[in-house]
Amino acid sequence: MSEIIAIANQKGGVGKTTTAINLAASLAVAEKRVLLIDIDPQANATTGLGFHRSDYEYNIYHVLIGRKRLSQVILETSLSTLHVAPSNIGLVGVEKEFYDNNTKGRELILKTKIEEIKDQYDYIIIDSPPALGSITINALSAANSVIIPIQCEFFALEGLAQLLNTVKLIKKTINPTLEIKGFLPTMYSTQNNLSKQVFADLKEHFKSKLFVDKESASYVVIPRNIKLAESPSFGKPIILYDVESPGSKAYQNLANSILVS
Ligand code: ADP
Ligand code: MG
Repeated sequence: MSEIIAIANQKGGVGKTTTAINLAASLAVAEKRVLLIDIDPQANATTGLGFHRSDYEYNIYHVLIGRKRLSQVILETSLSTLHVAPSNIGLVGVEKEFYDNNTKGRELILKTKIEEIKDQYDYIIIDSPPALGSITINALSAANSVIIPIQCEFFALEGLAQLLNTVKLIKKTINPTLEIKGFLPTMYSTQNNLSKQVFADLKEHFKSKLFVDKESASYVVIPRNIKLAESPSFGKPIILYDVESPGSKAYQNLANSILVS
């Protein structure tokens, strides 16, 4: 059975794409068959895995408007068990098209498309855009669970209530089995008191929803690590760029905590 995990937070720059790429790659290195679906028009997950616009003709936009099947846009990556369904800036038009055509069941289009291929994968990771519009609703409607990255910086928890309400609403209406898989503190810096404060707040409110590394019995926290910021420019997940870096280890711990749960 495949597990479908959306990475979501309507804030930009909190580590969604970094988490999507590196969780997907860490699961793939653990010999799981993984599909990373990029549904952010910014296509950062696609480029972060080394694909450029000229490398692929069709993308997730063509799937969502019904021009292509999901299997027709999937690309192989340098990790043999990791595939990616790429995105492209053209995807910005999809919300308007859904709206203009009053597309029926538009919240469930991605779910329907995933149904066709999901047996071929152990994990399907969906990287969503920084908004709570139709695209993110599609991701949350298709997913079994959602990981919410929380940047350990100013205003980290601002807007979280709105996201949690959206999750609740989708659970009530479209996707009753949707679960919050966990909150993932990202860009944690030990030198920064604010990081500690954000993490303490998360522990206070969502203790049971933090990821735990069973081996060390400690919470999974993604450190601020320059290697994580560099690796997309080499078109590589961190595990292929610098496997020993703290960022790589943290994402491997996240993958392990998901594999054993
Ligand atoms: P989002 O997808 O939520 O917009 P990204 O994953 O693209 O966020 O991260 C925003 C920026 O921060 C990117 O430039 C990324 O490389 C960088 N970044 C993300 N996580 C880390 C980290 N743990 N340490 C250092 N830089 C990071
Ligand atoms: Mg992103």
